[in-house]
Amino acid sequence: MAMPNRSSATSEPAPAPDRSVEAFIAEIVSDAPKEPLVPPPEFLAQCAELGIAFEPGEVEKLGRFLALLLHANARMNLTAIKDPAEAWTRHILDSLTLMAPLAELPAGASVIDVGTGGGVPGVPLAIVRPDLRFTLLDATAKKTTFVRAALDMFGVEHSKVVTARAEEAGRDPEHRDTYDAAIARAVGPMATIAELATPFVKPGGVALLIKGEKASEELENAKAALHLLLSHHAGTLETPTGRIVILEKMRPTPKAYPRGNGEPKRRPLGGS
Ligand code: SAH
Repeated sequence: MAMPNRSSATSEPAPAPDRSVEAFIAEIVSDAPKEPLVPPPEFLAQCAELGIAFEPGEVEKLGRFLALLLHANARMNLTAIKDPAEAWTRHILDSLTLMAPLAELPAGASVIDVGTGGGVPGVPLAIVRPDLRFTLLDATAKKTTFVRAALDMFGVEHSKVVTARAEEAGRDPEHRDTYDAAIARAVGPMATIAELATPFVKPGGVALLIKGEKASEELENAKAALHLLLSHHAGTLETPTGRIVILEKMRPTPKAYPRGNGEPKRRPLGGS
């Protein structure tokens, strides 16, 4: 519509909350299967090997989350994995490999999942560690709206969902240098995710990154980045599904980091 722009000084009105995203997700959730997926026997065996003992109802909640994730995936792009048995391993078990390093955190400790996507690894962990305070962050509103709906469904009370780019939230005093741990999977190569995740962590806290076979090669390439981020490699855990790289943040993140939107990915710190 052609309207004369009478006052160029007038600021833009704040955008209205996006009802269409809310409605889209509400519809997906309302016609999701009511029955939880049942884990294959090898899943329970592998959890037992990891020393994970479930409380009553937790496996059912994990199965309901997985059913919801796979159901939603038919309408929006959340995961490439469609086979339920594979999803138990690649989503749930892979998330739960973080239980061991998170075991050191006391009740009430705070954990941020940077780039949670459809809620992995944050949602399964929030289900089995309801004593921790999880913040699940993603830049895409459709994904965070889905994750919010999933958490509401399981009555996970102490968890928050934040829609923001990590570059921006990582500069916000509400989030910067405040979390006991940051966790992440599949958000980028080591230097990129280190720059996005470590700003959230308290000095003395850790970033726990789910990685694959190339973990040590990635670490080698990220040496300069870790140095700039005042963090160091505190260890790597071998897990049934891959590796967990543990970074420890020694001091507050220097003011220069994280850089502007897209920079950590476009030009990973330390060159390469
Ligand atoms: N962790 C999930 C999703 C991985 S896909 C899993 O393992 O399945 C990467 C996700 O990170 C996407 O959902 C994308 O929106 C989000 N992401 C990528 N860069 C980001 C940034 N700079 N800030 C916030 N979220 C980001």
